[in-house]
Amino acid sequence: MIKNIIFDLGNVLLSFKPNEFLLKFTNDKEYIDQFVLKVTRSKTWLELDRGVESLENARNIFLSKYPQEKDFIELFFDQWMDMLTPIEENIEILEEINKLGYQSYILSNFIKETFSYVNSKYSFFSLFDGQIISGVENIIKPEKAIYELLLHRYNLIPEESLFIDDILFFLKPAKKLGMKTIWNRPETDLREELKKLDILP
Ligand SMILES: [Mg+2]
Repeated sequence: MIKNIIFDLGNVLLSFKPNEFLLKFTNDKEYIDQFVLKVTRSKTWLELDRGVESLENARNIFLSKYPQEKDFIELFFDQWMDMLTPIEENIEILEEINKLGYQSYILSNFIKETFSYVNSKYSFFSLFDGQIISGVENIIKPEKAIYELLLHRYNLIPEESLFIDDILFFLKPAKKLGMKTIWNRPETDLREELKKLDILP
């Protein structure tokens, strides 16, 4: 029987669409696609997720690496935290599972400073029974240690735990440890999936 529901943040509870935001400032979609990949798929971004780099340093690293793109780098670093917005239908699900008596947790690759920001901005964070944030713990998914940390810190039995993530790759270690998983793709109806598992009525 499932007792614990563990949520990823990005693209499960918080939407992150930097491309849409930046396209308000240019019509060059190709440039923006490249720009966003360059920033968010970089080694520096991984170091932010792991909590070994600060946002201020990261901004400076990008500015010195791509001086000709100063405007977009500044725009991105000034505003990107506000590009993270709640996915309302999934927040409703979180509220419902709380009322039904399940424990809920966060397991997310997320930048420490950004977590503080969204945590104080959105009230739904008070619903969780615990959280493992990569930038705080200095380990990232899909490293096995971050899943084990979650289980140990909160005394969770893997077989009683369900993990929801939008990246298939991040579900594998959870599955290996015995947890149930839901791959939350853009076309996934999370409510339906939770009904199938008898978690929601
Ligand atoms: Mg995600």
